Amino acid sequence: MTKICVPVFGNDFREARERAERALSSGAHLIEIRADLIPGFDIDCIESDFSDMLDRAIITLRSKEEGGRSDLSEDKRVRWLKAALSLRPAYVDLELETDKELISSEGEKRKGVIVSKHFFSSWKPEEIKRVLAECCALGDIGKVAAHVNNIIESVQLLELLEDIDNSNHALMAMGVGGEITRALAASIGSEIVYCALDRKSMVAPGQLDLQSQKRLLSDGRFVVGLIGHPLGHTLSPIMHNEAFEALGLPGVYLPFDIPDSSQLSVFLRSSAKLGVKGINVTIPYKEAAFSAMDWTDDEARRAGEINAIVVDDDVSLKGYNNDIFGLSESLARAGFNPRNRRALIVGAGGASRAAIIALWKMGAKIDVANRTPERAEELVRSMRVFIRTLSLDQLAAEKPYNLIVNATPVGMKGFEGAPIVPEKLISSAEVVMDMIYNPPETSLIRAARQHGVKAISGMEMLLYQGAKAFELWCGVPAPVEIMRKRLMEAIES
Ligand code: NAP
Repeated sequence: MTKICVPVFGNDFREARERAERALSSGAHLIEIRADLIPGFDIDCIESDFSDMLDRAIITLRSKEEGGRSDLSEDKRVRWLKAALSLRPAYVDLELETDKELISSEGEKRKGVIVSKHFFSSWKPEEIKRVLAECCALGDIGKVAAHVNNIIESVQLLELLEDIDNSNHALMAMGVGGEITRALAASIGSEIVYCALDRKSMVAPGQLDLQSQKRLLSDGRFVVGLIGHPLGHTLSPIMHNEAFEALGLPGVYLPFDIPDSSQLSVFLRSSAKLGVKGINVTIPYKEAAFSAMDWTDDEARRAGEINAIVVDDDVSLKGYNNDIFGLSESLARAGFNPRNRRALIVGAGGASRAAIIALWKMGAKIDVANRTPERAEELVRSMRVFIRTLSLDQLAAEKPYNLIVNATPVGMKGFEGAPIVPEKLISSAEVVMDMIYNPPETSLIRAARQHGVKAISGMEMLLYQGAKAFELWCGVPAPVEIMRKRLMEAIES
């Protein structure tokens, strides 16, 4: 069985010891004492402070060459590692190249030694295969960690395992896009998987947190995630992981940053093999992913875009547009029925398209206003709907609308500004919805509230599209209130 290991370090041994206690009591099988990351480390401290947990400890003194901070001379390092071996912890980590002599002086492959190698720059698959086999032959466990720049490099790394027969391996990717290798650790038969104690201490990209890693040891484990670029501070992993944890589901939601559009189809084609059961899609791949689907729902076909994929058991890809559902559901939950009501949508991009489809289906009388009116005309023409388009200047002369929807980025974090809709239209509306979710209270939402108008934040839309995706992937109702609470906390933090 794959063992979960939490590296421990700190400002001193006491702090490292506290982390170790927390890790073991929270379900980690092993701790890795990263002596090089504990100022003032010495072997006596390990012997005295960690004596009761040495049978569950990996002792590591990572050299600078391998990404650590130990600057002991070679002689001292060898002496130190020999002393560590004599303590007989669960494992001592010896580096394939730096600790060559020590490894060979131990003779045959011996119990309690991890032979490791880290690749920090580019690598060739053949090289990794050769080195992993060498580490496995010399150590009780052979560990290779390779830096990746994206998810596709992680896929390449995982593919190597298809023709490696060493059962005593631990292969993992470091860096953005490396998370999938940790998520699949049990599925690929890794002896050990390294993870952070909790989400706050996830310092190195590529790692998962202990609770997520624990869920992924259970039968029925699954991976879902978000493709797009750049993903920045996406809130979807936070919202979905909270839901998995709350319902005790063995899933994890990962960000899959795909910087280059040529990698999209590679990833989609590999998703089933990777054990990815569901995918959310964001900018700039909503249209391109639509074209790669085997089946799409009505909303997706109308929009020509998807934001969610179900990877079916028969490996087919099913695309959904849950943004439309998210918007309709937010209005319905606020008790607003748009049938035969005047609705103004501001903006003419993808968000506006989703709003038009949702409101059209619900029977609203829609106008679309945009800074560049020609773009609004083009949008409406391409959708083959009969909808009036306006410039922003024309809004001043308009009669009141029952509903106003902002589908522009004006007001979002880093793009703050006064509402682009005239105040008299805001004050006379019944409901104002801003598709922006960060901040939850934009200048438009604030203005609406000041006039006593019902205001809906884009956070509601984000939440309900997420809940729909959750239900498609997991087949159980989403814990909406738990997801909302976590979203709010994340936005406010
Ligand atoms: P987009 O394709 O880039 O469209 C932006 C629209 O905003 C364009 O029509 C553009 O007008 C207009 N615009 C941009 N800057 C403006 C300014 N300074 N003054 C007036 N108009 C301006 O963006 P999108 O994908 O449709 O997304 C729009 C917003 O919706 C984003 O903030 C996004 O985060 C949000 N959204 C939220 C959810 C959710 O779940 N809550 C889902 C999807 C989108 P021009 O044509 O004149 O350039």
